[in-house]
Amino acid sequence: MPELPEAETICRSLRPRIKGKLITDIKLLWPSLLKGSGAEDLERWKEARLVQIRRRGKMILFDSDRGETMLFHLKMTGQLYLCSEKEPLDKHIRLILRFEDGKLELRFRDPRKFGYIKIFETLKEREVQPLAQLGPEPLELSLSAFLTLFKKPKGKIKPLLLRQNFIAGLGNIYSDEILYRARINPKKLVPFLSKPELVRLYKAMIHVLGEAIKLRGTSVRNYRDGLGKIGSFQNHLRVYGREGLPCYRCHQPIRREKIGGRSAFFCSQCQTL
Ligand SMILES: [Zn+2]
Repeated sequence: MPELPEAETICRSLRPRIKGKLITDIKLLWPSLLKGSGAEDLERWKEARLVQIRRRGKMILFDSDRGETMLFHLKMTGQLYLCSEKEPLDKHIRLILRFEDGKLELRFRDPRKFGYIKIFETLKEREVQPLAQLGPEPLELSLSAFLTLFKKPKGKIKPLLLRQNFIAGLGNIYSDEILYRARINPKKLVPFLSKPELVRLYKAMIHVLGEAIKLRGTSVRNYRDGLGKIGSFQNHLRVYGREGLPCYRCHQPIRREKIGGRSAFFCSQCQTL
């Protein structure tokens, strides 16, 4: 699933090409893509101008000059990219937006169909789910605000990092990579994390997310940026997807375990309990 760095990369690749442009045509090829909105809500976007393209957590938001926002949640296999109108359509394309210059069109492609779009008044953003419950943006958190977040939670650290209402934008890949770099076991209980461990966790989070954005995301499955290109952070993964392979630090085999229903990759020697 695209996480924060992938959603950010998609926004950055789309922004210079379609921000400020007028939408001239919309084709909805799979009506269930709209969640809590009807086809008439989408219809209002014809002849609307895109004034901003931004990200919140793992989601991508388009703002129109009519005071409305279109939220894209890519979920498991969603892709949002620009391509030529001449490029053949496949059966997984769910939505197409066309723009005034007619050169490139935006396609929402999603084989597994878990992704969705939602339309709402921009001013009501804080009341709309899942935005209403979303936790803070990790790259906007100060160290002291980050430390404060950890005062109350009780469970294991890995499932906590995945909770979007705790911190927005982290998923299975980056939570594993961050915990490895911070040398914290994913099963460690939050109340037992020392202050130096939490400081390491914060630094690792800022570092990993920053590097992943710089390298334009991780393409381990079907993630592509807003121009259909793959990212390159998959070449820098230290634990995710490396079960049985030697740890880059201590050469012990990387382990994979289910923690809170999700698989976690870690090194039991570098990340002791
Ligand atoms: Zn190790």
